[in-house]
Amino acid sequence: MKELFLPPALSCEIGEIYASMATAYDEVAGILPLTCQGCPDNCCDSYFLHYTYSEWAYLWEGIRALDDARLDRILQQAKDYVEQSRVLIARGQRPQLMCPLNDQGLCGLYQHRLMICRTHGVPATLTRPDGQHLRFPGCFRCQEVVNTAYATEADAPTMDRTILYQRLAQLETRFLGGKKGLFPRIKLTIAEMIVAGPPKDIKTNRE
Ligand code: SF4
Ligand code: SF4
Repeated sequence: MKELFLPPALSCEIGEIYASMATAYDEVAGILPLTCQGCPDNCCDSYFLHYTYSEWAYLWEGIRALDDARLDRILQQAKDYVEQSRVLIARGQRPQLMCPLNDQGLCGLYQHRLMICRTHGVPATLTRPDGQHLRFPGCFRCQEVVNTAYATEADAPTMDRTILYQRLAQLETRFLGGKKGLFPRIKLTIAEMIVAGPPKDIKTNRE
């Protein structure tokens, strides 16, 4: 099956959405204040799942640019991750394994990291399409900052993810076009996105 590539305009747009996320994140992190510097944890071992074909395709834009040696190393790490995470899940445990893209503690594909990598940390809110309002307290370090510096959680600044998620959802719709309903829903770790290769197109009866 044909690989799915993001058209240049959409690739540019996803980059802009990610840049808006970074601005919104930095604003809240600056007020709190929260920084990852000196943190004893590394969130790149969190078990995060990702749901969009467009982010998967954008991740692969970055992976394609890697040299062969790095690509081989990352592929092997991704295979190990997938294998180990399946064993842990079968045992009823939530995997805590280092992301195959992490390189000596830092993201090895920073420009192409996914939305959750960009929003995790500061407190956030989200209004779902059904109107339900969600609030995320932020990472453990952020919660320590909030508990020390603010009378209540509600007094702390939050990053509103709603518009950013909506923009990404709209971009996903344009990316998949008329075939959107034919694509299976995805729920993949970054390691699974690497092992599976880039997202593939769906063949319709008319093709
Ligand atoms: S997001 Fe929070 S827990 Fe994760 S590295 Fe940064 S400060 Fe530490
Ligand atoms: S893509 Fe980068 S930031 Fe995200 S979990 Fe992997 S190494 Fe960490």
